[in-house]
Amino acid sequence: MLKIDHDFHVHTFLSSCCSDERQLPVNIIPVVKKLGIERIGFTDHLWANPEYTPHDFYLPQTEKQIELLREKLHGVNPDGVKIYVGCEAEMIAPGKFGILPALAESLDFVVLATDHFHFKGFVEQPPTDSDHDIAAHMLKFFRAGARCKLATILAHPCFPLGYIDRYDAIIATITDSEFLDSFHVAAESGVALEITVSFLRDPVKNRFFSLETPVRVLSLAKQAGCKFVFGSDSHTLERLGRIHELEYFIRTVGLTESDIHPFAKS
Ligand SMILES: [Zn+2]
Ligand SMILES: [Zn+2]
Repeated sequence: MLKIDHDFHVHTFLSSCCSDERQLPVNIIPVVKKLGIERIGFTDHLWANPEYTPHDFYLPQTEKQIELLREKLHGVNPDGVKIYVGCEAEMIAPGKFGILPALAESLDFVVLATDHFHFKGFVEQPPTDSDHDIAAHMLKFFRAGARCKLATILAHPCFPLGYIDRYDAIIATITDSEFLDSFHVAAESGVALEITVSFLRDPVKNRFFSLETPVRVLSLAKQAGCKFVFGSDSHTLERLGRIHELEYFIRTVGLTESDIHPFAKS
């Protein structure tokens, strides 16, 4: 079976939503090393586009995040684990991104979130809150993110944050051919899609949905020729270990080495 040897979505204590002071590279590297992870990408949240006033959440999270992360990495023993410096960038509407090309190009990679709809009043909301309108809005964002050329990886693809209690119903309104049209855009653009621990049920946040829903999404993405990377979206040391639970998707979607994006092997 395909082995999970990388994790390209790891937050540190530099992210405002991370409340675990231990969540720093010096503590993270030994944990992932034990998990058999050979490549790790750090992705603190960041807003670095002066054209738009960010949500309060992003006020402390400017491009200084990168400098601070590099400081935290200074002197850390990588112990054979290859370290990538990146960020989780934001998108508030098609064409409106929280990162500009110069910064994106200066990083090892950029994870772009195209579905942070929980930032109401900041990220553009669907026209109504019907399942169908949320789904169409989410796919519109997905395609714009896939085409924007700023992203190496699309984070938690087609996972409408802010509406996760209705995840099954929202995804069910999208036909296979609608999904394939959007996934073809991603496949042609060369952007990687993330297979995230968020696709698994989260007992802490009490998110219960059918695992058949992400399995369907990932199966259609594979069918369209999309390539994948794995990400834990860890905000705690404990969550890092859940990366191996993603083997569930390797088995059920039937993923092989050829489905992994070349970036994850670089
Ligand atoms: Zn996210
Ligand atoms: Zn994240």
